[in-house]
Amino acid sequence: MSSNSRQPDNARLDRVVADARRRSEQREKTYREQALAIYPWICGRCARQFTRANLRELTVHHRDHNHDNNPSDGSNWELLCLYCHDNEHQRQLEATAGESTRTGGRVSTHSPFANLRELLAKQPPSK
Ligand SMILES: [Zn+2]
Ligand SMILES: [Zn+2]
Repeated sequence: MSSNSRQPDNARLDRVVADARRRSEQREKTYREQALAIYPWICGRCARQFTRANLRELTVHHRDHNHDNNPSDGSNWELLCLYCHDNEHQRQLEATAGESTRTGGRVSTHSPFANLRELLAKQPPSK
């Protein structure tokens, strides 16, 4: 018996590849979704539990405060509720307040524009 070699349908293969690439690009952008996929929906500080109904109040915190550091194993992410997340950054701001005067006012850890960029990325393209 000769083996039955099947030819892959190239058009379909192209579509699968394009689809996979687009999905991986999206994945890189939306670390929030990645984090929500691998971590239970619970605030890491106050242990408040979340459902789809109030999921918008659960945020993804970057442990090293670097929003560009998004390892796919989630080691830099922590799910925090809005209040605990706020607290966390308040503490960080106070901790770096003294430092920033020494480094010439360069506060690179958490710029307000990092959030803005994230919000814009989620907007559908305007025509
Ligand atoms: Zn909390
Ligand atoms: Zn954060």
